[in-house]
Amino acid sequence: MSSTDVNSERKALLFCTCSGACPSMEKINFWTLAERVRLELGDQVEFMALHPRLCEEDGERLMARILAPTLKFITPACAEKRQEKLLRDGFAKAGVPMDAEHWIPVSMAQQDTEQVLERIKAALGDGRGKE
Ligand code: SF4
Repeated sequence: MSSTDVNSERKALLFCTCSGACPSMEKINFWTLAERVRLELGDQVEFMALHPRLCEEDGERLMARILAPTLKFITPACAEKRQEKLLRDGFAKAGVPMDAEHWIPVSMAQQDTEQVLERIKAALGDGRGKE
């Protein structure tokens, strides 16, 4: 296995809360969500992190530090198409390809806490977190 190969068993979660005030995420209790992920899915997740603005410069700095080509990152954030554009620089700065081997976008737009949790479970289970 080369250093850039992904061990598909190893997944990490990187939440973007969109400042915590985005109307499309108003039904999500992020504290409840994070604790439930920890309690219910913690054994399947290498680690989780949460940032309020991954698409801003400080968010990209975080991505540059924690994304790794040996992990598959699940990113619960805005709509998947938006993530493709808005997280591109963060992935580039980390040197991690934004492909299906390394990244599973999960949209939290218009979802509630329970629905996001189910999407994360699906992403952990079958590789893609699509609705
Ligand atoms: S990446 Fe998406 S969810 Fe995160 S702050 Fe930017 S627009 Fe909001």
